[in-house]
Amino acid sequence: LANKKFHPEPSVIRVGNVTIGGDSLVIMSGPCAVESKEQLLATAHAIKKAGAQILRGGAYKPRTSPYAFQGLEEEGLKYMKEAREETGLPVICEVTSLNAIEAAVKYVDMLQIGARNMQNFYLLKEAGKSGLPVLLKRGLSATIDEWLNASEYIIAEGNPNVVLCERGIRTFETATRNTLDISAVPVIKEKSHLPIIVDPSHATGVRAYVKPLSMGAVAVGADGLMIETHPNPSCALSDGPQSLTFEQFEDLTKDLKPLAAMM
Ligand code: PEP
Ligand code: MN
Repeated sequence: LANKKFHPEPSVIRVGNVTIGGDSLVIMSGPCAVESKEQLLATAHAIKKAGAQILRGGAYKPRTSPYAFQGLEEEGLKYMKEAREETGLPVICEVTSLNAIEAAVKYVDMLQIGARNMQNFYLLKEAGKSGLPVLLKRGLSATIDEWLNASEYIIAEGNPNVVLCERGIRTFETATRNTLDISAVPVIKEKSHLPIIVDPSHATGVRAYVKPLSMGAVAVGADGLMIETHPNPSCALSDGPQSLTFEQFEDLTKDLKPLAAMM
């Protein structure tokens, strides 16, 4: 169902009042983790002003260490909804369990399946049944075919609204947190009709590399970007080193404009 053979035209996915796919560039941005109402609202206003169309924020955080901040859960989802009401931006949140899906459908416009859960087939099916559009991140060591098969689990439940997200894969290189597989964009475009966005924040883990890779992603045909931003990255409870300040994010969106206009 994800194969272009059965659906030659590119899919356009609606998220609230925003569409992903086709010939516009959609930028999702926000903090790695929702930490407080103030932090989220400040970020929502700043990214909207800079031109982002969707607010991201994690309320259920799949952290490498069980002792790291795990997220505000339903309280965080409530802040997401408030941020949508205040700014009009649709909101996306990662879900890590059936409980999280059941809570999230009450508050958000799009579900995110994270890299660590890309092959959690039970979760994929439940996301498929949720009725919400789904952003499916590529697994840490997943091939493109495994990733497309994961998307198939969601679509097979009767939910065709899937957007793929390349977020870097595990390689031998240690200079960056992961290695951004920029080739995934044209490969997906050849194989599938699903939109694909790029997340240079998790791909690199390094703030300074987010802008050049964002430009590269748009140049190779990505339908959008996911970028982590924080009011004060040095105090972030997760992923501070890769999060942009509001000024850096504004500078990025300004420089992306001429590229986006060429899409
Ligand atoms: C995230 O988006 O905050 C996240 C945990 O991403 P990934 O699943 O790509 O690591
Ligand atoms: Mn993160």
